[in-house]
Order: sequence, then C-alpha cells, then structure tokens
Amino acid sequence: MASDELCSVCDKPAPRPVLICTQCGEGVDVNGAPTATAYCEVSCRTKDIENHQKACKDANIRKQLYRAGDLLQAIFCKFREASFDQDIKQSTKSDGVLHIEESFPQGDGRLFRFPHLLVEDPEDVAALLTFSACIHSCAYMYELSQMLLQDITTTIEELQISPSTPYLVDRAFNIRLPASFDCSPGDHNVLALEATDGNTYILDLSGAQFGQPRPVIPFNEYKLRYMNQITQIHEHGYYDGVLEAAREGERNPYMCDVSLALIQHKVRKCLLESVEEWQKENVSLKGLIRGDRKTYGTGKTALLGKVFDDMRDCVKEWEDGGRKLNRKERKHLFPNLSQPRCTVEPKGKGSRAYKMWVAGSKSLKGDPYSELVEMMGKAMGSLFGEV
Ligand SMILES: [Zn+2]
Ligand SMILES: [Zn+2]
Repeated sequence: MASDELCSVCDKPAPRPVLICTQCGEGVDVNGAPTATAYCEVSCRTKDIENHQKACKDANIRKQLYRAGDLLQAIFCKFREASFDQDIKQSTKSDGVLHIEESFPQGDGRLFRFPHLLVEDPEDVAALLTFSACIHSCAYMYELSQMLLQDITTTIEELQISPSTPYLVDRAFNIRLPASFDCSPGDHNVLALEATDGNTYILDLSGAQFGQPRPVIPFNEYKLRYMNQITQIHEHGYYDGVLEAAREGERNPYMCDVSLALIQHKVRKCLLESVEEWQKENVSLKGLIRGDRKTYGTGKTALLGKVFDDMRDCVKEWEDGGRKLNRKERKHLFPNLSQPRCTVEPKGKGSRAYKMWVAGSKSLKGDPYSELVEMMGKAMGSLFGEV
C-alpha cells in the first residue's frame, strides 16, 4: 500500500506498508470513508492504545453500519426483483427521467418479470427497483434491519419525508384516471438511526428512485441535499404493522392491492428462511459485516445469489399453483379502507429526527395518501365488485 500518511502519535512519516491499528484497519468515518490509523513504529502504536480506544470502537461501529446498509439495500433490491409488481409495457427516457407505461393493478396478486430488456442502464434499473417501494423497504426489511442494526444503534425510527429532489421515474397507467390524479408518489420513507458512535444517520434503501443511491448518509447531509421536511415519524416496525393490518383486512392507507401484499409477505417469509439457512451453513449476518473486506465481498455475493434463487422459486411455486389465496386471504382482498387500527406512538422523543419533526410540524398538511386510497378503492371496487 503506497502511503504518505503520518504517524498519528509523533507525526513522522509512516512506513510502507503502513503500520496500522489492526482492530480498525477497515474502519470508516461518518461519511463512510476509510480511516486506518497509521503509526511509524510499534512503540508509537503501543503508546497510543488507551488514547485510541474510543476512535477505534467508533470506526468499527461505522464500518458495521455502512456494511449493514449496503447489505440491506442489496437484499431489498433482490426482493423487489424477485417479486416485481409492475407490469411495464413501455419505457422511454428523456431528460434523465424514465417514463414507464404500465397496466393498471389487476387485484389478483400478480407479479411480473423485471423488464431487463426494456430497462438496461444500471441507474435506471436501480431507480425502477426502488420506485414507489419505500414503505416496503421499511416494512419488509424490518427483521433484517433489526438483526443488523440493533446492537449499533440506540434509536431506530421510521420517517416519512418530503424529498427535495425529483423522481427519476414517471409512471402512466394504460387506463384513464381522473385528470386531477397524480400517479407519482409524493413522499418518501427512510429510517433515522441514532448510532452508538454518537451520530445520527439516514438509512435510505429506496433512494435510487430520486437518484440518491447511497444506503447510509449522515443525517445533516441528507437533510441538506435530499429532504424538505419530516412529515411523519414512527417507531421502527410501524409500516410493517400497517401492512399487516392491511393483510388482515383492517386498514389500508398505503396500498390498494391486498393480494399483492399477501404474496409479497410470502416472499418476505421465504427471504427470512433463506437467510436463516445461509447463516446456519456459513456465518451470521452480524459476523459477515464484521469480517474483513474480502470475506464480506464473497459472502455477500453468495448470500444474494441464494436468497434471490429461493425467492424466485417461491414466486414460481405460487404462480404454478394458480396464485391461490386461502379462504382467509380471499376474504380480505377488499378491506374496509376507513377503519384505522395502527396507532403507534413515536418513541425516542429526544432524538434528532423527532425534534426536527416537532419543529417543522406546524406547517404540515393532511395525509397525502388519502386521495390515492379513495381513488384506488373506487377503481378496484368497480373492477371486481364490492365484497
Ligand atoms: Zn510515531
Ligand atoms: Zn483501532
């Protein structure tokens, strides 16, 4: 390794290869950049042990945090690809925006092959895989986020924000919708993490739809570059609860197609079993993100391959079986849209995200999804008849 680094104790040039603290050789700073601590000789390193302790620990916490984000984002994209829910008929690109035309949701839990032939550019693929999927990224990645983040965070919150950058995907349906209806989703959902290194971060697994591809970003940078304001704040697990309630036929504020939620929930259970199997045969996910760079890289590739194959098999089985819903599931295809059940109070009232939400909440409007839900509910009702 070439080096023009100086000893962090005495400022003499550090030799090559650099003598570093081996405990945090792959540690990173708050922006995710490498922070190996260099020394000129062993005596300086020994002298620094006590002083270096906290920095060493924090650098490793951030290494795990950034790796966790990288892994969660990659797994989520595999989940989306395996259970892709948009029937895209056409796609064109102009001025950096991908215009897609898709058929209207059919209400029978249909999933589609990702249109790799229509959409090839890696940025477009990432944008489409994450488009309109931000609630899913919070809900379906709930268990894996807990598994990877709980010992390196003190607070995990789910934020609904109004993004300050435009969508890179523009959607049109192949049926007539009311002229006033805007097909684009208006809000975005991310996690706010108070990490044990003392900093706050945003975990944004579906930001590629806005041209924001980084899974982990320091809170302040995210606020400056991508966010107008926080419009809602909930404890971790809230959106999972909302989708569960929708599957149970109770409340459906964010989506119209409950049968789709049912099959995606099956795929999510398959994902968790697949991860469980992989962990038994290899290493725990925590062990994976703590490991060295090379082990992490090969492990991640193997894990992604396995979970994708398993999820595709799960979907294929469901399709080959005639996409059957059991009696209970069928009963809940068209739930009552007007009965709220999930009322999770935000915890972590002292968190940075919570304070910002409180400060900004005076200027907020009502739930932007209510119009969408009403329109979708009517359309679904007229297509299939009321249940
Ligand atoms: Zn030195
Ligand atoms: Zn160290």
